[in-house]
Amino acid sequence: MVKEAVEFIFNICFLSENLCSLCGKKFKPILQGYICDECIRNLRKADVPVKPIKYVKHYRIYGRYGEGWGEIIRLFKFKRVMPLADIIARKIKYDFEEYLDFVKPEVITFVPVHLLRYWARGMDHNEEILKRTGVEFEDLLVRVRWRKPLVFFDKKKRREIIRNSFSLRKNPDCVRILIFDDVITTGATARTVSELLYSAGVKEIYWYFVAG
Ligand SMILES: [Zn+2]
Repeated sequence: MVKEAVEFIFNICFLSENLCSLCGKKFKPILQGYICDECIRNLRKADVPVKPIKYVKHYRIYGRYGEGWGEIIRLFKFKRVMPLADIIARKIKYDFEEYLDFVKPEVITFVPVHLLRYWARGMDHNEEILKRTGVEFEDLLVRVRWRKPLVFFDKKKRREIIRNSFSLRKNPDCVRILIFDDVITTGATARTVSELLYSAGVKEIYWYFVAG
């Protein structure tokens, strides 16, 4: 009901068309003016190859970063286009639930942003997506360091920075865990967080990524 009302007002106020961030075509926005309906429909699950990551038992990646997923995540994360969080959650929901069925984790958690970034953005993107999938999860990890983006450092320095960038809010007190993250790039974050959990006694560590 609220959604219909918002759409109605939106349609009256924004009669001009917007350009889709993915295909560049003009479209009439409903709820968000960044990605057109056709491109949203075309966001698909893909067979993204996975390579082994130390301390990680198994992981799954939903879609390919270059096939629209990178852009939708970027728009949601940095421009705070909240309706895109609903779209991402809706897209992955079935696959995520299926993976949870396979893993049967005792605890589900997510990779958080640093507290300063949380204040600046007013949200934690991974937490927002997770909330919308409807699963129960815990806020277990803390990002302890505030640094400039890792691209400014060489590989060795990056490892060192990442190694010291997380801690635990409390003891996980479980054997099997699943960590949710939006994007996997090098796998360095997954490895580090997993190492931390492993040293805290978690023996089976699984990950779910929206894109890679
Ligand atoms: Zn489009």
